[in-house]
Amino acid sequence: MSAVLVIGGSDSSGGAGLVRDIATLTELSTQALCAVTAVTAQTDGAVLSVYPLPPPLVREQIVSALATGRVRAIKIGMLATLDTVLAVAEGIAAHAAVPVVLDPVLAASSGGTLLEAAGLVALRQQLLPRATLLTPNIPECAALLGTALARSETELLQQGCALLALGARAVLLKGGHAATPEATDLLLTGADAVRRFSAPRSASGRRGTGCTLACAIAAGLAAGLELSAACARAKDYLSNWLRAPATPN
Ligand code: PLP
Repeated sequence: MSAVLVIGGSDSSGGAGLVRDIATLTELSTQALCAVTAVTAQTDGAVLSVYPLPPPLVREQIVSALATGRVRAIKIGMLATLDTVLAVAEGIAAHAAVPVVLDPVLAASSGGTLLEAAGLVALRQQLLPRATLLTPNIPECAALLGTALARSETELLQQGCALLALGARAVLLKGGHAATPEATDLLLTGADAVRRFSAPRSASGRRGTGCTLACAIAAGLAAGLELSAACARAKDYLSNWLRAPATPN
């Protein structure tokens, strides 16, 4: 069985974060190894508290997971603080051959902050150049670049190119926040290399869609799929999950 190391925070509501990551990987017959960065108390409507774990502990979880030799892909989610970003960058540094899916988690759907401002700068400088795939939504693109929200696909693709220029090898621009009839994600691997993945919009309002998609992509990469095939399979997986009646996680 292939294995993915998930690095991220726990969400007590079970809607997002590590609970969602592990549920996704389990459904995709992928073993989850796990490095917890922060514990949060959340409801669907609010982030009540965030307790980052000590950075040396975060680094040690990562180093020991990678030392098993079983990890075929890494998925990074909530990081909470600058020091955690630095600990993660240090922890994965010796494993340049392992693909990294970086979900730049900045805030919950409720609006609560999940990464401090100094952490965002460090993520851009230290982790973005290590990303095999960066998976920002429209607000995350704008925050990473310090620009206004993209108002059109052309503007979003321009922002995607700027993120490639910062060092990400590929960017999946998630269109969930766009005012388009379908939810379309754009996979950008070069200035003129775009592949689109569309699905009907879901009215489920379910949380954890970003975690689910990024983890499903990481599972595909761990299983040896090439990036575009991993994204296509993950988009189908997400659409089916959103269509299914809500079951635990
Ligand atoms: N909480 C944690 C721990 C997360 O990792 C994430 C997203 O990755 C969220 C909350 C945000 O999820 P949502 O946007 O579905 O509220």
